[in-house]
Amino acid sequence: MTLFPQIPSPPSLGASSPALVGLAKVAAQSPVAVSKQQARYFSLASKRVLNRCRSPRVPFTWTINPYRGCEFGCRYCYARYTHEYLGMDHPEEFEEKIYSKQRAGEILRAELARDPGGMIAIGTATDPYQPAERLFQTTRSILETLRDFRGLRLSITTKSDLIRRDIGLLREIAHGNELQINVSVTTLRPDLARRLEPRAPRPDLRLAAAAELVQAGIAVGIFAMPVLPDITDDPRDLEAIAREASRIGACSFAANVLYLMPAACKAFFPFLEAEFPRLVAKYQKLYARGAYLRGPYAERIAALASALRHKYGLTGRRTRSRFAPFAPVNQLRLFSGTAQDSL
Ligand code: SF4
Repeated sequence: MTLFPQIPSPPSLGASSPALVGLAKVAAQSPVAVSKQQARYFSLASKRVLNRCRSPRVPFTWTINPYRGCEFGCRYCYARYTHEYLGMDHPEEFEEKIYSKQRAGEILRAELARDPGGMIAIGTATDPYQPAERLFQTTRSILETLRDFRGLRLSITTKSDLIRRDIGLLREIAHGNELQINVSVTTLRPDLARRLEPRAPRPDLRLAAAAELVQAGIAVGIFAMPVLPDITDDPRDLEAIAREASRIGACSFAANVLYLMPAACKAFFPFLEAEFPRLVAKYQKLYARGAYLRGPYAERIAALASALRHKYGLTGRRTRSRFAPFAPVNQLRLFSGTAQDSL
């Protein structure tokens, strides 16, 4: 069944369209579903929903991303490179051209029936509760499939309070499976959040949704990530997030430093120049050696996160759901040369 009127002539995806192959070719043939403000929504035929993740940096084996592209448009978003696989090199296209995977719940059901084994992380490259979900309900179709299985190990990561819509479904899933919801909160300051994450829900709305999930008996972790040097890294601000996590009854807390891939730099540095010009040279120096920030700064943030976990009882051992939650991990640092596997 097609949810939306399909327009037979897809929009041009750029001058290179005639030579497109593979994923880029499929994306170019996707029908436009709906246009909303700046974002245009497309319906994308997919063969797979479960994608194998071979990165040794993460604890999960499979990822699910119901959408390609993310309208929230976080200035630091590492996943912008994923649109390059669709033949789009302009960073803003990641937040303006949103692709929903067709028949996701149905495809996943067949994949799970083959018992893939291993942990499944939903929302590793794009937010499963971004605005497109109100139209497509692709994430919901995936949850409806997961509800029918037992013994799965699952996590969902989001910045959106739209997840409240699915609390009943999530409770059913948590009854027979391990499930942890990770809510990302980079800052409690609404003005700063608006600058960094222009179309994501306010931090207080995210925390309210997280509290509601906890009240429903679902294990919740709070991800204070990415930590942006000299922007969101004040220890008092990070402690305020951990304190809020504790107050609402979250079971874990994690904070990791910004990961800045080349595709992300294309959007992030113009943002820095416009909003934090005094920091441009500093970031250029910090990330001159690569996307990962190593050394004393990263170690200091890791030590601070660990101290906050212990101070506020957010070590992953306290849970109100039926199963023990996963230990705090950096779910968003995925890639070490196998990026396309995880889309
Ligand atoms: S919500 Fe996540 S996927 Fe979406 S733009 Fe922000 S960082 Fe990227």
